[in-house]
Amino acid sequence: LHTERKYLKNAKIGEGTYAVVYDGIIVSTKQKIAIKKIKVGLLKDGLDLTAIREVKFLQELKHPNIVNLVDVFSHKTNLNLVLEFLDWDLEKVIKDKNIYFMPGDIKSWMQMMLRGLDHCHKNWVLHRDMKPNNLLLNGETGELKIADFGLARDWGDPSRGMTSQVVTRWYRAPELLMGAKQYSYAVDIWSVGCIFAELMLRTPYFAGDSDIDQLTKIFHALGTPTEQEWQHMSDLPEYVPFEPRPKVPLRHYFTAASADTLDLLAKMLVFDPNKRITAHDALLHPYFRSKPRPTALGALPKHK
Ligand code: ADP
Repeated sequence: LHTERKYLKNAKIGEGTYAVVYDGIIVSTKQKIAIKKIKVGLLKDGLDLTAIREVKFLQELKHPNIVNLVDVFSHKTNLNLVLEFLDWDLEKVIKDKNIYFMPGDIKSWMQMMLRGLDHCHKNWVLHRDMKPNNLLLNGETGELKIADFGLARDWGDPSRGMTSQVVTRWYRAPELLMGAKQYSYAVDIWSVGCIFAELMLRTPYFAGDSDIDQLTKIFHALGTPTEQEWQHMSDLPEYVPFEPRPKVPLRHYFTAASADTLDLLAKMLVFDPNKRITAHDALLHPYFRSKPRPTALGALPKHK
């Protein structure tokens, strides 16, 4: 039974909201991998072929800034994802106060993030759960790769509260917080805007402790949207009327940022999802052409 194994599973290296992650190797090549086992009992109607087919589709999504999904297999009632192994992530970098980084480093990470995102959006896949610890880094080469693309769906919906661990809502777009059932690629751009801000502040920009508080924090930081700038906002299922608050210029919080930086950030943090910048257009923004240049891969902070 164990003689023809393709992969060797080693130790448990982490536990997420809907999965347990192990490190391992591909036996034939000795290449290091991460095996992500989607927890039993989470799959709504058992493990149907549709779920596997959908994830198989993600295997085709190859890009230098997307964590490579090497293989997908089921074992008993689990879904197992075999992923390229990466040893570091952006959350650890942001939190480690011994690591200094520069505006050019942020630009380089933003560019890699948006390139990965753009590739997926062009292939009709959204992420829905972009956050710093889903942005994995190769601590040696400096490459940034987005993890878990297209995997944040019902069978792994963290908001259902598998464990007592509550999924972070700090990167969630306002339309999702207001219960939008139909949403678009714009939800990922909102998250990228929050991450962009966090890279500059080195602390989460909107750190709400409930869905309502999340919207309140956003409104306090940016001011409230008007019906005129976000039409049909009040038709959203969980819309709750709020006291209007004046617009706050981003400059108020980001005193040292360049005008280009704040212009791009503002275009990502637009309330109306239809007016929010796309990944494609963000990559063409003057921010990426103005100085400082994005830091070269080899010059980015390294994982010691
Ligand atoms: P979360 O639900 O918090 O996003 P995940 O389920 O994605 O967490 O992963 C749990 C942990 O497993 C991560 O914190 C990380 O340490 C590790 N991990 C996930 N994917 C990989 C990978 N491709 N390479 C190395 N480690 C990984």
